[in-house]
Amino acid sequence: MAVKIDKKIKGYAVVTPEDKAREAAPPPAAAPVDRPAAEAKDNIIQMHERIERPDVLIGSTYKIKSPMVEHAMYVTINDIVLNAGTEHELRRPFEVFINSKSMDHFQWIVGLTRIMSAVFRKGGDVTFLVEEMKAVFDPRGGYFKAGGVYMPSLVAEIGAVVEEHMKSIGLIHDPELSAHQKALIAEKRRQFEERQKKNAEPTPAAVQVTGPQEDIAVTGDGTSFPPSATMCHKCNTKALVIMDGCATCLNCGYSKCG
Ligand SMILES: [Zn+2]
Repeated sequence: MAVKIDKKIKGYAVVTPEDKAREAAPPPAAAPVDRPAAEAKDNIIQMHERIERPDVLIGSTYKIKSPMVEHAMYVTINDIVLNAGTEHELRRPFEVFINSKSMDHFQWIVGLTRIMSAVFRKGGDVTFLVEEMKAVFDPRGGYFKAGGVYMPSLVAEIGAVVEEHMKSIGLIHDPELSAHQKALIAEKRRQFEERQKKNAEPTPAAVQVTGPQEDIAVTGDGTSFPPSATMCHKCNTKALVIMDGCATCLNCGYSKCG
């Protein structure tokens, strides 16, 4: 049965027998008055805390290797699939576990993962967890991961793993760079490489001596940046180069001069 909703949906809930009983009684003052009637008929299941854990969940385990801990950490995030097989199929994180050989961090990790799992089961928008965790700074200073990405703390790295997972299940969509932005970054990169070559060109006095130039190492997916690049504070990647006296990021396109 198709239900046409012509008002903006501001909230949702699955109707339970208790809800029906409550609706029969006069609604409490705090209840939203403009809730469209069509919404109540909706039988699409969304995440909420009364959903029981199925016996089997699908999930992924991510390995974290950080200089902050002696042994690798394994982050497992299990998902629940709601409305399976329908057009409203939705995969949502349901629980998270972290395992490691080193037990030094055991206490706060158990606390953190239990609270995260509780937030996942509450439903609603859970993507805020990523931003909160990525903003945690270790007073001892963070560390750089392969590819020049700066991790301000171990908690931030766990946040980055959760983000990666949420992207993989379609809960977070990468703010995809527009074709225009991509072209702009590629152009900046080309200009920078050209200038590097020009600077490294031998002077007439030393024509025969061509020393090693500062080459831009580009990996298969093109994620490496010039060794002289500094940290971009927008995307936390060592990809900031100075061009025309202007700091320009070769990763996200950030530029101090607009
Ligand atoms: Zn950047």
